[in-house]
Amino acid sequence: MHPMVKPALRQAWRDLRSVQFGVTAAHAVVMGPVDTATGSLLSLFDGTRGLPRLREEARAIGLPDGHVDALLERLGEAGLVDDVTGGGPAALALRKRKEAYDRLRPDLASLSVVHAEPGGGAARLAARGAMRVQVRGAGRVGAALAAVLSASGVGRVDVLDGGRVEPWDVTPGGLPAEAVGERRAVSAQQLVLRSAPGSGRRAARRPDGVPPQRPPLSLVIVAPRDGFPAYAPDPLAAEGWMATGTPHLYTGVVEASAVVGPLVLPGGSACAGCLALGRAELDPVWPRMAAQWRTPHRREANPGPCDLGLATAVAGMAASHALSFLDGALPASTGARWEVSLPLLEWRSRRIPAHPDCPCGAAGQNRGECLSGPGAPHDTMAGAAAPAEQFRTAAAARQLGIGGAHV
Ligand SMILES: [Zn+2]
Repeated sequence: MHPMVKPALRQAWRDLRSVQFGVTAAHAVVMGPVDTATGSLLSLFDGTRGLPRLREEARAIGLPDGHVDALLERLGEAGLVDDVTGGGPAALALRKRKEAYDRLRPDLASLSVVHAEPGGGAARLAARGAMRVQVRGAGRVGAALAAVLSASGVGRVDVLDGGRVEPWDVTPGGLPAEAVGERRAVSAQQLVLRSAPGSGRRAARRPDGVPPQRPPLSLVIVAPRDGFPAYAPDPLAAEGWMATGTPHLYTGVVEASAVVGPLVLPGGSACAGCLALGRAELDPVWPRMAAQWRTPHRREANPGPCDLGLATAVAGMAASHALSFLDGALPASTGARWEVSLPLLEWRSRRIPAHPDCPCGAAGQNRGECLSGPGAPHDTMAGAAAPAEQFRTAAAARQLGIGGAHV
């Protein structure tokens, strides 16, 4: 192990005896008391020295035996230590792909802030490479979202859509102007490949000539060009994902409003059916109207209302929720929906309760119990930490906020 105090967190002395690591309340930790010699020792934890050398240098500045290990333990408990060689074989392989690794360094630093254990950030970043996400929709939201996922290291991003690229599909982070007139699915897939960090990330064939197996779907993202099917998702369209336990996330822009969520963990959190049943209770004529709005009509020939700034923001936010889930957490869109409308752009969240009449069975389940049980919906999420563990991690992270954060 080559320990390193996480460089992603800024350090500042609060007073002569305590150091604060990190700026924001979400991730900052205060360590104290810290004497001058220990403060000097902190600067040696920069990832260039192994433990034997650190112990040797500590002795040289007059610190007693065991001081290095004790300090490392304190830092480790506070989630402040990273291991520049840690994260397992996949992380090691990623470090060797220098071009890709350099592209992803800010993402790795971010993951090191979020995940406490040494090497945890590198392990999760590398795990993304083995995951497969399907994005349904290659419009202003879907294409940009797919590009962000690919650029963030998700190994395989499949984009599904029909028709050909229209001029209004073109966005700075999505489909390029040159793609107008081409098939949407093909252009979106090329965008995904161009966005991927590094080159040569996919082996076309195994050494024995057999094509590589497609990894199971970790997540489906429903991001239709017309955002209505994301705003009022059709339970029938989700039947296959519900049956296979495939997590899915809805996002889109409809009439100058945007939504991110719900992220559905089949059987564990509210689904499209729960959403529809709840909505019908609030407004009994909603199903009749939804059926009319769902019917294809002339809109296909004309672009619907979709502000580019709003579409770009929601693509980024949905991608971030998706990545957080793929990295093993349960983002705030789980069983909830984030909504924002022009012109005030005030994000608000609405919890979507699981409905007792919905056949998904999520109603009445304690979320933590459900997700920590065997056969949980997260089974399709390759290489990620157990959800129950993530609950504990999240709780621990909150406890480490400024205030009670002395370690
Ligand atoms: Zn349901």
